[in-house]
Amino acid sequence: MNDPAPVIAAPARPERQRKPDWIRVKAPGGTGFAETRKLMRDLSLNTVCEEAACPNIGECWTKKHATVMILGDVCTRACAFCNVKTGMPRAVDPFEPEHTAEAAAKLGLKHIVITSVDRDDLPDGGASQFVKVIEALRRSTPDTTIEILTPDFRNKSMAAVEAIVAARPDVYNHNLETVPRLYPTIRPGARYYASLRLLETVKRLDPTIFTKSGIMLGLGEERLEVHQVMDDMRSADVDFLTMGQYLQPTPRHAKVIDFVTPQAFDAYAQIARAKGFLQVASSPLTRSSYHAGDDFAQMKAAREARLAAQSARG
Ligand code: SF4
Repeated sequence: MNDPAPVIAAPARPERQRKPDWIRVKAPGGTGFAETRKLMRDLSLNTVCEEAACPNIGECWTKKHATVMILGDVCTRACAFCNVKTGMPRAVDPFEPEHTAEAAAKLGLKHIVITSVDRDDLPDGGASQFVKVIEALRRSTPDTTIEILTPDFRNKSMAAVEAIVAARPDVYNHNLETVPRLYPTIRPGARYYASLRLLETVKRLDPTIFTKSGIMLGLGEERLEVHQVMDDMRSADVDFLTMGQYLQPTPRHAKVIDFVTPQAFDAYAQIARAKGFLQVASSPLTRSSYHAGDDFAQMKAAREARLAAQSARG
């Protein structure tokens, strides 16, 4: 008798983590959503909303809020949390600044957020493209406030930051992403203190520019480590802190260690406010650019109130 045919086990399916109810969002759709998508396609613009698989895309695009991702859709880094493709990027698109400005005008944006992939292959890390985008926006929609969310410009940060600060965005955002202990696994190509120094440099070069930074929670960080990051940001005079739940984009990415409850996000927000941030956004679905326009208006009002209180005290 022949041996029975060996049983070949089906390859184990990567385990999908079940999300708690507070993470669930509506499926994207509707007229506003379709119009936003068409405009981005027509202008050949990438968005972090799509590339990072942002859970808020249904809500934001329906309201015609999109975050443009410049310098292509291929990143030179491979962070364990990020869904953007890694590889050798293509040449920089010379039409991108004008197309971004056209998108801002057509979407009627009062506030726009511009981010990019990491471009370690470019001599200036892509800083000059940020400058061109800011200049194009100022020409075409001068009333639109501009928030930029940049990479760390590894090994060329001083020149890059000086050039961008001179173009005077309203908000300069650079995310610390996680606590320093987790950098080697989550953000291996970056250095925590270099990112902190970048934020400090922006403020030193132009204290009128608002600075903003964010971290993801649920990657295994401890509460006191989060408090330490807040203190570090305040030492760098960061104005605005964002905190949101990390979600695993694909089974290849870093696992979610825990789903932080909305109550815990509120508790972190309270502590952050007590530490002196002008503005804090902290909830499971908070992302750097989520409700960025409304938050910018509140931050501006908070600064004015603080300055008025200081001058009243003499
Ligand atoms: S939160 Fe930001 S990245 Fe996400 S969909 Fe909204 S604008 Fe895009």
